Amino acid sequence: KGMVVSFGEMLIDFVPTESGVSLAEAPGFLKAPGGAPANVAIAVARLGGKAAFVGKLGDDEFGHMLAGILKQYGVAGEGISFDQGARTALAFVTLRADGEREFMFYRNPSADMLLKPDELNIELIKSAKVFHYGSISLIVEPCRSAHLKAMEVAKEAGALLSYDPNLREALWPSQEEAKKQIMSIWDKADVIKVSDVELEFLTGSPKIDDANAMTLWRDSLKLLLVTLGEKGCRYYTKNFRGVVESFDVNAVDTTGAGDSFVGALLAKIVDDHSILEDEKRLREVLKFANACGAITTTKKGAIPALPNESEALTLYKAN
Ligand code: ATP
Repeated sequence: KGMVVSFGEMLIDFVPTESGVSLAEAPGFLKAPGGAPANVAIAVARLGGKAAFVGKLGDDEFGHMLAGILKQYGVAGEGISFDQGARTALAFVTLRADGEREFMFYRNPSADMLLKPDELNIELIKSAKVFHYGSISLIVEPCRSAHLKAMEVAKEAGALLSYDPNLREALWPSQEEAKKQIMSIWDKADVIKVSDVELEFLTGSPKIDDANAMTLWRDSLKLLLVTLGEKGCRYYTKNFRGVVESFDVNAVDTTGAGDSFVGALLAKIVDDHSILEDEKRLREVLKFANACGAITTTKKGAIPALPNESEALTLYKAN
């Protein structure tokens, strides 16, 4: 089985024990491990795939706790470094009245931002059949250089490059800078997944339609995906495009749905990149990815809500 190597941040979200309250009003917080690239690696492993995480954690109790979680889920940890000085990143998260999440980050700087190019496990990255990343690791040096180098090593070694920008506006100095840096590596990826919110942010247009999505298309791409929450996803390739609807579930917390969706897609294409050229098979894989995303919304938190293969197949076959 081919390996999915996921690069970037892993952190702890602190989530209020009561819903609908502000951070100041929250009577207490629960630890919810996350970080999109780490979630994706665990999502792949949950589905029976081979996955590794590459990133930096603090050499503190939280950092070792997170490394332990990756290990517990069977994600290879040879790509993890520990920083002796900086802390593991934390984020306090609230759900606004409109359902969108709001983040307050503690990264001043956090260990993940301090990963250096010479700390990369090159052999591990070279072994990737799929190399996945986001954009948070592009925000500051030295992590930015480590990210760019890792992408280059993976591409050179023949990996498929998968990119989920996973926009966190609060972490960027400005919207313009976010847009510029997110787009600066657009042409390197083979597969890109954006959410409807990111489509609007990157294009400047609120239209969730083919014409607007196609402004993000490049001929360097093999697949462009736009996730639409409960409505499923749209897909674009050189030769075909369409929509795959999601499943009717009782959503309680959408955290990690996108990562679950991406993990499922990568777990399915890692051993057969030709799926990307076959619309019928791609639609089946996207239906499976929708099922995984949908299941993840039915439980609180991201990682505990990621489905295994049999849970995903049960929903997949029910429709
Ligand atoms: P995240 O909340 O992790 O940032 P995202 O915004 O990247 O997620 P979404 O579009 O919310 O991604 O969800 C990803 C996929 O999960 C969707 O394409 C869909 O297949 C599934 N999904 C999400 N929400 C629901 C829902 N309420 N009902 C059914 N399926 C859903």
